[in-house]
Amino acid sequence: MKNVVLLGSTGSIGTSTLKVAEDLPEHIRLVGLAAGSNTKLLAEQTLKHRPEAISIASYDDAKDLSSALGTITRIYAGAEGLLQLATLPSADIVLIAIVGTAGLQPALAAIRAGKDIAVASKEILVMAGQIVMSEARKHGVKVLAVDSEHSAIFQCLQDRPANSVRRLWLTASGGPFRTTPKEDFPNITIQRALKHPSWVMGRKITIDSATLFNKGLEMIEARWLFDIDMDRVQVVVHPQSIVHSMVEFVDGSIIAQLSTPDMCLPIQYALTYPDRVSSDRVQTNLAKLDSLTFEEPDFNRFPALNLARRAGELGGTMPAVLNASNEVAVDAFCSGKIGFEQISAAVERTMERHQPVPHPTLDEILVADAWARAEALS
Ligand code: NDP
Repeated sequence: MKNVVLLGSTGSIGTSTLKVAEDLPEHIRLVGLAAGSNTKLLAEQTLKHRPEAISIASYDDAKDLSSALGTITRIYAGAEGLLQLATLPSADIVLIAIVGTAGLQPALAAIRAGKDIAVASKEILVMAGQIVMSEARKHGVKVLAVDSEHSAIFQCLQDRPANSVRRLWLTASGGPFRTTPKEDFPNITIQRALKHPSWVMGRKITIDSATLFNKGLEMIEARWLFDIDMDRVQVVVHPQSIVHSMVEFVDGSIIAQLSTPDMCLPIQYALTYPDRVSSDRVQTNLAKLDSLTFEEPDFNRFPALNLARRAGELGGTMPAVLNASNEVAVDAFCSGKIGFEQISAAVERTMERHQPVPHPTLDEILVADAWARAEALS
């Protein structure tokens, strides 16, 4: 039985995690739940799962929850509340599924309290991968991937060392604009960008999947999770999203992990690792699949991939700048202030203006993050 704290319980990953917990009551107990603003859903989840403690972003919302829920659970609020949950004495593992960067400090707090972490929020590893991984090594805790691509690579690697790997192959669905001609890019609307062909996800990651920034962020995430140079992290477009990623070993052998796309599978694997627990939820009928195809990404229509590679290779504070400027640009696109192509243009401009700090401290990363947010649309 694993005692799990779930940060971001009301989101897409959060609600899939609750399904996994409901599937496996003998293996997973939810001891803490945290949400941003959806008090109604957090209250329902609390009544159903009876966690020891919950947290919500605003103090006013915490008061409302307190009136609604009485004494059935401890209620925290704000950034402090996330830290309380991340260090809950009864927790074995903290799953971080908060969109954006608010999960970074709780992730570090959980590691320092000796908890394993399961990371969905890739922003954490993009911003501060070196710090997160070295703290995890120092405290002897595991950093488990929830992203389906990184879960696939982890399952294929099975603890083999980085020097047995020729390349990691991240698969990308290609998003809704895989075949859209470049001339049509100025006409891309938010509604079109939100129609992902294979996955139902939160808004930010869905837009990132349309620009391919999601794959760019994942390249940097893989570099840290698997301690491998950026030039050995490659992307191949695989529109069916059945092969979740692959490892090419030094002898030329390629091992892949396959299943129908369902985030419950990588979530379950992270929460029950190292065991494989029986579940009927995910079924894959290979004979019914038409074909599995692979193609080169188009670096011209999707500049995000090269920007992310450059940020990952330069290292230091540059990945944090890529991440923060992308977040601001995605927000601006969603509120109609800039066009689809201006997202990568804004990131490129911000990166060009940044002098990266090598081997940054956490404070230097946070300064770079704040600088990029102010700079991205100027
Ligand atoms: P959603 O937008 O669906 O959910 C985000 C969650 O974060 C919500 O529960 C939200 O709460 C919560 N949240 C936001 N701000 C705060 C805060 N300050 N304190 C506490 N909770 C907060 O996003 P997704 O679930 O899609 O994605 C979450 C993370 O997982 C992202 O980093 C994404 O890149 C990553 N990921 C997602 C995948 C997917 O399939 N969705 C796949 C792989 C990775 P509320 O709704 O109550 O405001």
